[in-house]
Amino acid sequence: MSAPDGDPGGPVLVLGGTAEGREVAAELNVLGMRVVSSLAGRVSKPRLPVGEVRVGGFGGVDGLAEWLREQRAAAVVDATHPFAERISASAVTAAEQAGVPHLRLERPGWQAGPGDEWHWADSLTHAAELIARLGRRVFLTTGRQGLAAFARLDKQWFLIRCVDMPEPPMPLESLVVLDRGPYTVDKELTLMRRHRIDLLVTKDSGGTMTTAKLTAARRLGRPVVVVRRPPHPAADRVVETPAAAVRWVLEATGR
Ligand code: NAP
Repeated sequence: MSAPDGDPGGPVLVLGGTAEGREVAAELNVLGMRVVSSLAGRVSKPRLPVGEVRVGGFGGVDGLAEWLREQRAAAVVDATHPFAERISASAVTAAEQAGVPHLRLERPGWQAGPGDEWHWADSLTHAAELIARLGRRVFLTTGRQGLAAFARLDKQWFLIRCVDMPEPPMPLESLVVLDRGPYTVDKELTLMRRHRIDLLVTKDSGGTMTTAKLTAARRLGRPVVVVRRPPHPAADRVVETPAAAVRWVLEATGR
């Protein structure tokens, strides 16, 4: 649907699915700006941002560029998860094609501190190789997608935590718990003790919503396999906080 005639400018598109995306949408809403938040539609009951929401893929670069043109979008804020590679790549190219200002909002990654034993993996496949030599009872928190990488590990038992039920292939010897952050250190300690976890596996998601497991692993003296972020397409402008993203939107849209 096109923006109505006479509309001074279309919405700010926030590519979301993250707490940061919701924060940006909420703040711009308070400032009286029209925002459309976009979600992939992977999660059955997503946390919804305030304001308008659309759900589902755009149909690649061309579809997204067309959406931006049709809506006369004023700006694009890509606040998707650090591991959402394809949509971020689409956003860079589509925004350029449509001539719409683009910003990448990416929270900083995690860093090991004193007392941590972290092993960095370059991919989920690499993480599976590290698991094979580092642990027997594994707390796997890399999400529902990509569990196939661990399906062949038959000497380990897995506690798999994700938001929605995963589908095979995935490790046979496993227990799935459905939950979503934020988590507390006490609860993570209880969970890891109850299941006698000896290895934690996580993506380098960053942010504060899911750091409790890292603290719990440190307190219990357990090693952690951390999957490195994929390289992101070169966005011209990258910021680390929702506040900086909001400032950029105001500048980019002349508000
Ligand atoms: P992805 O591999 O980059 O995206 C795959 C396809 O899904 C994209 O090409 C796009 O389809 C569609 N898509 C993804 N995010 C979208 C969005 N916000 N709005 C509209 N379409 C979207 O991404 P993913 O890893 O599947 O992640 C999907 C969503 O979940 C992201 O929004 C991300 O913020 C969130 N998330 C991901 C992770 C993770 O670990 N990957 C963790 C937490 C949250 P078209 O090409 O058809 O446009």
